[in-house]
Amino acid sequence: MAEEIVKQYISVEEAKAIITAALPASRAERLSLSGATGRIVAEDWLAVEDMPRFSNSAMDGYAVRAAAVQGANPDAPIELPLSGEIAAGGDPNVAWPDGTCLRILTGAPAPDAADGVIPIEETELLEGGEKVRFNADLAKTGNNLRAAGEDMRAGQKLAWSGRRIGAPEIALFAAQGVASLSVAQAPRVAFVATGNELVPVGTPLEPGQIHNSNAPLVAALLADAGYACTDLGVARDEPGALRALLESALEDCDVLITSGGISVGRYDLVGDILVELGAEWHFHKIAQQPGKPLAFMTWRGKPVFCLPGNPVSTLVSTWYYVLPALRGMEGARETEALHGTARLTAPIKGRPSKFFFGRAATRIEGGQWLTEPKPPHGSHILGSLAEANSFILLPPGTGKLEPGESVEIAFFRGPGDSS
Ligand code: AMP
Ligand code: MG
Repeated sequence: MAEEIVKQYISVEEAKAIITAALPASRAERLSLSGATGRIVAEDWLAVEDMPRFSNSAMDGYAVRAAAVQGANPDAPIELPLSGEIAAGGDPNVAWPDGTCLRILTGAPAPDAADGVIPIEETELLEGGEKVRFNADLAKTGNNLRAAGEDMRAGQKLAWSGRRIGAPEIALFAAQGVASLSVAQAPRVAFVATGNELVPVGTPLEPGQIHNSNAPLVAALLADAGYACTDLGVARDEPGALRALLESALEDCDVLITSGGISVGRYDLVGDILVELGAEWHFHKIAQQPGKPLAFMTWRGKPVFCLPGNPVSTLVSTWYYVLPALRGMEGARETEALHGTARLTAPIKGRPSKFFFGRAATRIEGGQWLTEPKPPHGSHILGSLAEANSFILLPPGTGKLEPGESVEIAFFRGPGDSS
């Protein structure tokens, strides 16, 4: 069984479907509002009260009854005595005789009798502040009142389960007085790099050694997406060491990511050791470039992603498979990276039997999305990756495409991050 899986190539779409089907259900936890930014709402929320709670002024100006200022204009202004003031946070139930006006400030509750607020710009203060001259009426200025409940009614849906909490949601919850809420637990991700050649950044290199750049790469990609990642260091390509590190990693995380040691080389031991530890293979190779020998396993229901060690393979695999899986584990409605179509500014060629991720800098220009391939595309080449913000997604068998043709692209970081 394992042998068959290890030899079989599957498509990018099949890989995504297999991963999605194997993801554990999300679990909820209660967090304070301030700690909930970036998390997924775990249950639908209804507004508990009208917003605004009371009718209030949208402007600094004067509250009036419509009839008192009707017809006022610069050639025929109307003057009214000023009988009081309502500031933000004030009481609207002040004495307000007919034929007078009230100073009112933005956000102040409006008296029931107010038909509207004439903005200060359409008025002049006279007689040391005892009288106001109106150069416009409400027909001209509009009523400048924010009606109670015009934003949201009590009982209306405030936030949907599956929505990621950003600044607008935080503001909505805060405005409603929600101090804590139920959100999906963020998966605890652990990362293990494997390879005899690897040493941590900060340690001088002996001949033949390289720095472990995948651990910081994965941590950065995950951090960008709002997930923490525990770096468990480097395991040597040696069964005992590998087994020990993987075993403790599996116990302590919700999702394990390994890099390296999953190809068909003599020292590629990760898959076999995970199986010995009780993990189940779901697939091994994907017909894609980069990142072909990407294995997906589960261990006691926990997803385990074994990424090939080349840095660009690690980035593509983490971005295209692991991040959507983490979002899926949280019950997020949107799990995929921002994607769409863009026009090529230079040629690019697909691969005969593999799905090809071509790194590119995609930008908007003249109202159009343009995408510029950033070769070289080798899976060990980091320099050109740093000039890119996205990948051009070319299905297997895509021939040479010319400038001006439309291609599908997806961003692995913000659109503005490649210039
Ligand atoms: P492997 O998948 O173990 O065959 O490794 C493929 C290539 O990626 C080799 O050139 C490795 O040296 C390199 N590589 C593996 N792991 C890392 C890592 N953590 N950081 C940087 N390069 C790595
Ligand atoms: Mg290796």
